Amino acid sequence: MKLGIKKYPDPVLREKCSKIKEVDQKIKDLADNMIETMQKADGIGLAGPQVGVSKQIFVTGVDKPKVFINPKITKRIGSNVLEEGCLSLPGLQFRIERANKIKVEALNKEGEKFELEAEGLFAACIQHEFDHLKGTLIIDYKD
Ligand code: ZN
Repeated sequence: MKLGIKKYPDPVLREKCSKIKEVDQKIKDLADNMIETMQKADGIGLAGPQVGVSKQIFVTGVDKPKVFINPKITKRIGSNVLEEGCLSLPGLQFRIERANKIKVEALNKEGEKFELEAEGLFAACIQHEFDHLKGTLIIDYKD
């Protein structure tokens, strides 16, 4: 099911997201719907607040779709500047410096813990979506 995407300045985009206590069927459905919504919008990432859910979940679609629940970035190495847009801020793009390589820990859609290393665009995408869970948006990087 395609979900509505919240646009700036919707206040939900500024909320700090709470941890997901249990990965139940509702969360699995939410993850599936978020992936569908991201793909239909031609995005490469979508975070909970962007669909009005103030919970620590985001999905990415850089390679194949991936779900991150209660994510933690445990390592950041180097730096890389990429032009980024956001489905909640249509038409805006900013050059943003982020870590080039990261290590992430999270739960998948089945509630199982996983760890991965990402680089370049995938790393930027994860850091962008991770920002959403803290209420941080790309406009906050503008000097
Ligand atoms: Zn975004």
